[in-house]
Amino acid sequence: MTRTASLLNDCFLHDKDRLRHSEVLDLLKERLTTVAEPENCTFSEALGRFLSTPVVAPRDVPLHDNSAVDGFAFSHADYQQSGTLRTGPVIAAGDLADYSLGKGEAARIFTGAVIPEGADTVAMQEDCTVTDDQVDVPPGLKNGANLRKAGEDIKSGNTVIPQGKRLRPQEIASLASLGLSEVPVFRPIRVAIISTGNELLETGQATPITAGQVFDSNSAMLVSLCASLPVTVSRLGIVPDIASNVEETIARAAADHDVILTTGGASRGDEDHVVATIDRLGKRHAWQIAIKPGRPMTFGQIGDCVFMGLPGNPVAAFVCFLLYCRPALTILGGGDYVEPTRFQVAAGFTIDRKKPDRREFLRGWLTNGESGLVARKFERDGSGLISGLRAADGLIELDEETRSVAPGQMISYIPFNEFGV
Ligand code: AMP
Ligand code: MG
Repeated sequence: MTRTASLLNDCFLHDKDRLRHSEVLDLLKERLTTVAEPENCTFSEALGRFLSTPVVAPRDVPLHDNSAVDGFAFSHADYQQSGTLRTGPVIAAGDLADYSLGKGEAARIFTGAVIPEGADTVAMQEDCTVTDDQVDVPPGLKNGANLRKAGEDIKSGNTVIPQGKRLRPQEIASLASLGLSEVPVFRPIRVAIISTGNELLETGQATPITAGQVFDSNSAMLVSLCASLPVTVSRLGIVPDIASNVEETIARAAADHDVILTTGGASRGDEDHVVATIDRLGKRHAWQIAIKPGRPMTFGQIGDCVFMGLPGNPVAAFVCFLLYCRPALTILGGGDYVEPTRFQVAAGFTIDRKKPDRREFLRGWLTNGESGLVARKFERDGSGLISGLRAADGLIELDEETRSVAPGQMISYIPFNEFGV
């Protein structure tokens, strides 16, 4: 059976024939490239953005050798001859004068002040005794003690931050320390969020909820998940399960967005119109992944717009966003995609029988066990249970080969913060 034939015959599609998690990631990395153009932003707008060009240091940071403490600066060679030195100039942070020391002299110096010519070592004021015009420096100070060298933080000419790096407060501090006036970043990519389903009701509506209806929780969830990425989000609301409505909304969104995220309607039921819509409007790259939760995940393209059809079940949508949308949005936005770190921890639960050939992501959290960290899992399995996501701090990952899990067995755990959540 070829893969195309399998796709048309979903009910009989075995997990073996579905795309594996790693294949889907490879596909995303292979087919997606940066679509965002570079622009400049201010420092206050830079958090979480992706750097659009490597930043090379125009000068050393710090610019001069300077003192790390309040104390006395002197030549180590002089100090080795005698621990008693003559007090010389007083140098404070920001002083412009070029000071130099005479033989056997020590400058009174303060944190951040430029080291005078002739000094290479600083003693802390707490350790020194000053009498009249002399200072006694205790023995045992190493050459270069309490001194910060020019360029020890950043060397002139070195690449400080590579292109694609997601800017955290510490990167922003580094860029500011170079004196940059603006930060070169990629523009945020435009993401449309659409919920599909006849049963869905907009939150906060005047009409009361009736039997068979559910509030659209996926839109709010996806908007929040997107918040940790450099994207601008348009929330396009709820679309009923009517082929023409789904098609019309998706076509309209494709015209002025870089990415469309939908939830629901991604299977092959009569009321599921998303897959057929992508086939009509564009090109579908993948459908049906051998994972749980989140099997019916669609990935395609309409013109230049990337389409990602997430399952309707909130847990599946959440997990698929982390696993596939986050990498895709990162790559499209010019970011350097970094695979989340897996931590090997002991299982604090039992699974007697796990289906082979599919990867499972359980909602879990860590506790302290007698011999290290232990992963617990949310008891109930349902992929509609948002409470499982709330209880969790991360995902427990059971790979395709795993058949069972015994307490104490080492398993992979990915904290949500690895996904920016
Ligand atoms: P579907 O993928 O359309 O078959 O939907 C699967 C399940 O997810 C159904 O129980 C839906 O009611 C539920 N669901 C779909 N979309 C949403 C949404 N936007 N918010 C909350 N639940 C949803
Ligand atoms: Mg539906």
